[in-house]
Amino acid sequence: LSKERGKNEFTFYNAELNSYMKRKMEMENHLKKAIDKNQFSLVYQPKVNFLTNKIVGMEALLRWEHPEYGLVSPAEFIPIAEETGQIEAIGKWVLETACKQNKSWQNQGFPPLSVSVNVSVLQFQNGKFLKTVKSVLEESKLDAQFLELEITESIMQNIRESKDILTHLKALGVKISIDDFGTGYSSLHILSKLPIDTIKIDKSFIDELDQLDRSPIIKAIIDLSLNLNLSIVAEGIETENQLAFLQESGCMIGQGYLFSKPLKTNEFEQLIKINGLKSFEKQHSL
Ligand code: C2E
Ligand code: MG
Ligand code: MG
Ligand code: MG
Repeated sequence: LSKERGKNEFTFYNAELNSYMKRKMEMENHLKKAIDKNQFSLVYQPKVNFLTNKIVGMEALLRWEHPEYGLVSPAEFIPIAEETGQIEAIGKWVLETACKQNKSWQNQGFPPLSVSVNVSVLQFQNGKFLKTVKSVLEESKLDAQFLELEITESIMQNIRESKDILTHLKALGVKISIDDFGTGYSSLHILSKLPIDTIKIDKSFIDELDQLDRSPIIKAIIDLSLNLNLSIVAEGIETENQLAFLQESGCMIGQGYLFSKPLKTNEFEQLIKINGLKSFEKQHSL
């Protein structure tokens, strides 16, 4: 019996692995055509200043809508794009789209905001990244100060090269933010070694605020960044409790469902239309 069962399990495992590999390979092929088929779009999540309740910027987040798969999460397709090298073209599309959109909002007379774009480490270290950023800024005519690049601690794996690229980016006037701060192995090291502007406290720490009651770790991260003259942004704020704690601790900027989910271009535009006139309404999620 046990032999029989073992055999079945093996077959089952194989079948599951096969269907996983199959989906991955199919996805790879569909991903190749996604730009040309206009299947990508960006959504924008507002960054809010807690004191003024005004929007101070937005994070551009990539969405892939496929006719068969439906909406695919970036958590699923970004790793595939990285593996296959498609991240380069996709990342460029994201940069172009975000910068053009931001410039267009400025041209329409909205108060200038900074757009944050997520950058994959592989994209960052491919040797062409600096050139791409330069040409995108030139073509979109967006002033560099209104572009922020979000990179993760994994750039520390290649610290010399990363420092070099960052120094050039900073010379252009672009801002640098460390995303998911505190989740990697080099959180403290990165602060002393690389020229950065902002740290984004990872959502996992914000989540703990409701469980562990007043996490000393977050207080320490906020103090540290303030002492180093870095901006600090909290991500994934969902509750009034979390917001109150952050404010008490000196963190004044953040994003999360408490304020708004990421919004489609036209929805975000509606929001910034009233931004200058009216305080941001929480739970504005559409
Ligand atoms: P991230 O950069 O850390 O982005 C934050 C993620 O948390 C986003 O998920 C956002 O929608 C979600 N989020 C924001 N506020 C809340 C909240 O209050 N509660 C909860 N539960 N979630 C919240 P999303 O859009 O699914 O993106 C996931 C990750 O995919 C991003 O994490 C980023 O690492 C990556 N990603 C997204 N767009 C791009 C892109 O254009 N390029 C690259 N390289 N990566 C991207
Ligand atoms: Mg991000
Ligand atoms: Mg993040
Ligand atoms: Mg995160």
